[in-house]
Amino acid sequence: MTSLPPSLAVLALLGLAAPFALAFNAEDQKPTYGYRDTPYLPGGQWRVHDADRPLPPVVDPGTPDLDPPPSPPPSDAIVLFDGSSLDHWHGDGGKPAPWKVEDGAIVIVPRSGSLISNQSFGDCQIHLEFQTPSPPEGSDQGRGNSGLLIMSRYEIQILDNYNNPTYADGHAGAVYGQTPPLVNACRPPGRWQTFDIIWRAPRFKPDGSLDQPAFVTVFHNGILVQDHTQVLGPVRWRDLARYEPGDAHGDAPILLQDHGDPVRFRNIWVRPLSH
Ligand code: MG
Repeated sequence: MTSLPPSLAVLALLGLAAPFALAFNAEDQKPTYGYRDTPYLPGGQWRVHDADRPLPPVVDPGTPDLDPPPSPPPSDAIVLFDGSSLDHWHGDGGKPAPWKVEDGAIVIVPRSGSLISNQSFGDCQIHLEFQTPSPPEGSDQGRGNSGLLIMSRYEIQILDNYNNPTYADGHAGAVYGQTPPLVNACRPPGRWQTFDIIWRAPRFKPDGSLDQPAFVTVFHNGILVQDHTQVLGPVRWRDLARYEPGDAHGDAPILLQDHGDPVRFRNIWVRPLSH
């Protein structure tokens, strides 16, 4: 069990307010997404959720006519959801798991809070499948939004970006607020999609300061979208992610985000990796 870090508790509150910004550029009447008043990311070229950052190019990952059943997990995987129950999960503050199981899938109950794994993980390989609602509702960050928060802190964005633009670092497969996916590999809403992730946890010195940042590699529907990307720190909205004194932590649970949309999940498993 773990409690949400304070910054994430604030984010969760903000998150339910659907943090997206849709405005119209007066000159060309094209909608723009994101912000122009947020801090600059390292390198100084782009801001957090930068409205002017190029969007990831769309790549069709290949979509079968019918969704195949999930592939069985490998023999050494820790299975967190096999389609049957939420026995390996709980809710915020140690409460019972607030989401439901329907037709072999976990379904978010909007505004019921997070779903948090009972088990904690450090370095690991994660497989997760998700399906955004069909027909889609909303736009920008308000369409099929959830998130995979590794170690309950570091968000790989889940969003329906099939014909739904948003700011670059908020796309599905982004390290949210930090690094856009290399490409937009979304399948249509209502179709099963996969994340395969290699996670290398941050290391902290005995005094709690950062020794080595986290790194993440992500495949979305089999397509590489994060290539050993350095993670700047726990997820933040409209603010620069950073490791702060006091952020030192050990192994921690996986957290699935409730952003108010009934996203579905299935076939979730983890393989711990040796350091
Ligand atoms: Mg999200």
